[in-house]
Amino acid sequence: MNERQQTLAALVEKHAETVLEAERWLWAHPQTGFTEWQAHEYLSKRFGALGYCLTPAGNIPGFYADIDTGRPGPKVCVLAELDALDIPGHPEAVDGIAHLCGHHAQCAALLGLAAALKEPDALEGMDGSIRLMLVPSEELVQVSFREELREKGTIRYFGGKTEFMSRGFFDGVGLTMMVHQGEPFPADGSDRIVFDAWRGCNGCITKKFVFKGKTAHAGAQPHDGINAQYAAMLALQACNDLRETFMDHEHVRWHPVARGADCAANNIPDRILVESYVRGKTIEAIRRENGKINRAITGAALALGARVELHDRPGYAPGELDANFLKLAEQCCADMVGRDKVLFNYESWGSGSTDFSDLTCVMPCALFNVDGGYSGRAHTVNYKVINPHRLCADSAKAQILVLDALLKDSAAAATKIVADFEPRFPSIKAFLEADDEFFLDREAVTYDDDGHATVCYW
Ligand SMILES: [Zn+2]
Ligand SMILES: [Zn+2]
Repeated sequence: MNERQQTLAALVEKHAETVLEAERWLWAHPQTGFTEWQAHEYLSKRFGALGYCLTPAGNIPGFYADIDTGRPGPKVCVLAELDALDIPGHPEAVDGIAHLCGHHAQCAALLGLAAALKEPDALEGMDGSIRLMLVPSEELVQVSFREELREKGTIRYFGGKTEFMSRGFFDGVGLTMMVHQGEPFPADGSDRIVFDAWRGCNGCITKKFVFKGKTAHAGAQPHDGINAQYAAMLALQACNDLRETFMDHEHVRWHPVARGADCAANNIPDRILVESYVRGKTIEAIRRENGKINRAITGAALALGARVELHDRPGYAPGELDANFLKLAEQCCADMVGRDKVLFNYESWGSGSTDFSDLTCVMPCALFNVDGGYSGRAHTVNYKVINPHRLCADSAKAQILVLDALLKDSAAAATKIVADFEPRFPSIKAFLEADDEFFLDREAVTYDDDGHATVCYW
């Protein structure tokens, strides 16, 4: 690190105790998406005490705080995610909820970054402005609860970042970055990699479909019944048969979960709910393959004389991180920990999904990971934070170095990254309009008295 980088890293290190204290507090107060009020209150107070003026979302958790150099230049947004996971069984879970994706550490890191940026001289040599943002609800869980919030008009989108995009929180932002936890501390103790990154990941939509048949006594009058469970089984078989039509390079994933029939063992089941995502590498692939899946579901209902409701919701867009922005971040990480401890793979593609990807459709974004801060596996009951300093303070140091690299020299690097970026959508509005096309609520098969059936699955 050069002298300026050492100064910036030291400004973060000065607040390491605050950061580690916040990490423990947030770990002990986990809440799931759109209910993270404890973290919201705690962080609001801590940011307020640092002198930040907050813009809260209001009816959902989350806020942003701006810090301006007073000189013109792009606005860089730095994100941290508030939500935990409902995976019961973790020894430290609170009401069955725990921070098994390390989002609490992101929040602690952002607090450290916020504290460092308020130090005298922190912004020296930087132009433009910085938006620090706490976003709710990244994990796409508790879909029924989110649907309730949607029906009440509290939210429109299931992902916190998408929701914040729709609320104008990213208007005027030129580029966005975030540091997530990456790989666990290696079992062989080698601890070789500190920062890594991949290039992109799948998008997804959520879907729910309900087969509706007719109940009847399964022994005495099965001829009077329409078996919703058989229709669901046929649908899942048909959808599985479609898998060989999925293109390998589009990484389509379809993983249905049948919620089971709620009826007596001697009755014909008349209702079955199935939930799933459809994932893919492009919005076009998701739309096309989801259409085929809906057609198969509809055909299965028709085959049994059942009816079926289709309910599709936009999930997260496929993400493609900005290579120029990633290269700048990679250089900062290498300056900080040494080239041999940094592994940015510009070819790698993840088949999971995140709402961070929605931002990549409209602005240059960098997401990279800090590795070795925990043991076990993310999202599982053996997850354990073992190096909070790495996970929080080192993450914040990398972030302040990236901000400086972007905004120094009259914000030359940030300006160039923004100028060279080719967005997949011309505006946030255009992106959300395309996202909205995934909303579908359809009774897919109707029958008339003359023996005709009408199907519509889009
Ligand atoms: Zn996660
Ligand atoms: Zn996560």
